[in-house]
Amino acid sequence: MLKLRNTLTRTLEEFKPLEGNKVRMYACGPTVYDYGHIGNFRTFVSVDVLRRYLKYLDYEVQHIMNITDIEDKIIRGMLSSGRSLEEFTGFYTQEFLKDCDSMNIERPEIMPFATRHLPQMIEIMKRLADAGHTYQSDGSLYFSISSFPGYGKLSGLKLEGNIAGARVDVDEYEKADARDFVLWKAAKEEGEPRWPSPFGEGRPGWHLECSAMSMEYLGESFDIHCGGVDLIFPHHENEIAQSEGATGKPFVNFWVHTEFLLVEGEKMSKSKGNYYTVRQLIEQGYSPDAIRYLLLSVPYRTQLNFTMEGLRGAETALEGIRNFRRRVADYDSQGESHTRVRDLTERAREGFEAGMNDDLNTSRALAAMFEFRRDVNTAMDAGEFGGGDREAVLEVLGRIDSVLGVLGEEQAQMLDPEIERRIEERYAARRARDFTLADQIRSELAERGIILEDTSQGTKWKRK
Ligand code: AMP
Ligand code: ZN
Repeated sequence: MLKLRNTLTRTLEEFKPLEGNKVRMYACGPTVYDYGHIGNFRTFVSVDVLRRYLKYLDYEVQHIMNITDIEDKIIRGMLSSGRSLEEFTGFYTQEFLKDCDSMNIERPEIMPFATRHLPQMIEIMKRLADAGHTYQSDGSLYFSISSFPGYGKLSGLKLEGNIAGARVDVDEYEKADARDFVLWKAAKEEGEPRWPSPFGEGRPGWHLECSAMSMEYLGESFDIHCGGVDLIFPHHENEIAQSEGATGKPFVNFWVHTEFLLVEGEKMSKSKGNYYTVRQLIEQGYSPDAIRYLLLSVPYRTQLNFTMEGLRGAETALEGIRNFRRRVADYDSQGESHTRVRDLTERAREGFEAGMNDDLNTSRALAAMFEFRRDVNTAMDAGEFGGGDREAVLEVLGRIDSVLGVLGEEQAQMLDPEIERRIEERYAARRARDFTLADQIRSELAERGIILEDTSQGTKWKRK
């Protein structure tokens, strides 16, 4: 039984969908004004692991991730780039999706854009206005937090000392500055994107879009809402106020928040400049699988300190598991399957699930996989491994990796004549001074575990 720590109740709870076997989940997506950094991707990878594990447990998952394509930073970026809003956000959306692909993140069922859901946002504002939760000031519409008694229940904010009627217009602010927040901002600056509404011409505040799009696709009450811990306040607190203020129903059953990726003890963020993008690390020669492995190797509720050494460690750990998988796949035995290996596969599956069921404790789940590798290797060394065991071991590894998503496809073992043919082609390329092709052949072989060594007697090769 899967247990998740619920930010709202501050307890570990058994997960049960609201309706049958269907899980409706919403995750806050990227603000598309720049490339994402690996801190952002820690959150997106953890949501992907949750999604994949729910599918592993045979739930039918409906997962929505919005794209924030209108917001303070976007407007600043768009105005200084001289491009239109669509061009500016369209570019970064495509780049975000490319990074998701390289991080092996599955596509959510729907990825809605904020700017295409203005009618739904206007509808919520009307309902809030009718219920007495709003007021207008200087052409903007505000949510009055004192009108919603549950305000603060997610973040644990106490409202005493809050100045009634004091307002904030910006999208992000600290808990100490809790104020009435803007739902709809009057258009001010020249060139600022704007839309018509019953409250005047303007644009939505950031928080409104997630209430509008989650309820549009998942209904007024749904199962899981995810995001990084920095979204608990004000973003998710405000989403609850808007949604429950409009519908009078509980908005979300489980709130699941991913802790920060740190660099030298500080949150990795754009504004601090202490960040790496996925593409920067790939350019430096790190594999996207290792980045993903590193990000998920620590449970999502624990902070993770990023170091290059940690990333190199992830490459090594991953290589170790791939070598193990290759050894099993290549193990030449026709014999029967052994009870010992059968017990080990059963234990690996149970260990993995026990870890994952414990609030997605990925480090426990990985430990079960490493133990499995050690014990199966011992069984192979002892010759207690038959042809029938091969499939069973590969099947468990495949099941585990359907959640972790780090091992990639097994490449067929390269046969000796094929390797020799490629070495000859490389030799010919070098004679023709086509060093690009020669290097390409060398790195292709290296990727498949073949190391070349040029000697005075010609090129020798060995398997890694
Ligand atoms: P943004 O594009 O800024 O809206 O952020 C996208 C997601 O990344 C949000 O869920 C954030 O909470 C999350 N996030 C931002 N910085 C970090 C970090 N250093 N570690 C983990 N998650 C982060
Ligand atoms: Zn959101």
